[in-house]
Amino acid sequence: MTELLLELSGIGWQRDGRRILSGVDLKVQRGEIVTLIGPNGAGKSTLVQIAVGLLAADSGTCRRMKGLRIGYVPQAMTLDPSLPLTVGGFMTLQTRKPSASAVLAVLTETGVGDLHDRSLHALSGGEWQRVLLARALLQKPDLLVLDEPMQGVDLTGQEELYRLLAEIPRRYGCGILMVSHDLHLVMAATDRVICLNGHVCCAGHPEAVSAHPEYLRLFGWQGSQQLAVYSHHHDHSHDAHGCVKQSPQVKTGD
Ligand code: ADP
Ligand code: MG
Repeated sequence: MTELLLELSGIGWQRDGRRILSGVDLKVQRGEIVTLIGPNGAGKSTLVQIAVGLLAADSGTCRRMKGLRIGYVPQAMTLDPSLPLTVGGFMTLQTRKPSASAVLAVLTETGVGDLHDRSLHALSGGEWQRVLLARALLQKPDLLVLDEPMQGVDLTGQEELYRLLAEIPRRYGCGILMVSHDLHLVMAATDRVICLNGHVCCAGHPEAVSAHPEYLRLFGWQGSQQLAVYSHHHDHSHDAHGCVKQSPQVKTGD
């Protein structure tokens, strides 16, 4: 049975006389990964903030399941460089202080258990994103909301992180709403894609979206070909620039 965690209908938002979002519908069910993609300035972060309740929509409705627990990782999460803090210390900076064993378990699960005593300032981009993910998971969320979780992560790290994210709904029994503007890899770990540019341009299964005229208009033919590669099997390799070494004539629907 499907369980609806979040339902946004007809969301509109404007600032300084500029319409940023109009008529946006979005649903997330327990167990699924929904990815919001779109160019810079498309309103992805704004929509996500409305979804988690940090911003109020000007129009439309936002329904959250009763008692919904949200683990939110914002797009820009910067640290005060003068703050001496270890990974373990950062994990316990929460209203409900977690046990040491819970902290270690979740860090281990996201692949950074060995970094417990490391200074936060000494982490790579990929390690930092894994720590942020672990911190959000510590709350045992029903809905995990990640705004560009691949920021600062190199291409190999992204592939691994997407693989980890793909496992999370099953392990935690949660849903994931994720924002991305990169076309690489996203699709392998996504049940549904919503392509946003102020409004929903197209939405659906990754492969259907990648062939949609609105999607092609936004991202162009090259983007769709990359997507086709990534939405299929990992039977390709990457050159030093992260480009896919494979003919762009990828058969779809296999
Ligand atoms: P995305 O995450 O897709 O890159 P954002 O949601 O961050 O896009 O921003 C969408 C647009 O809304 C941008 O043009 C941004 O400048 C504008 N915007 C976001 N927040 C505010 C705000 N608080 N006041 C005015 N404009 C804003
Ligand atoms: Mg954003």
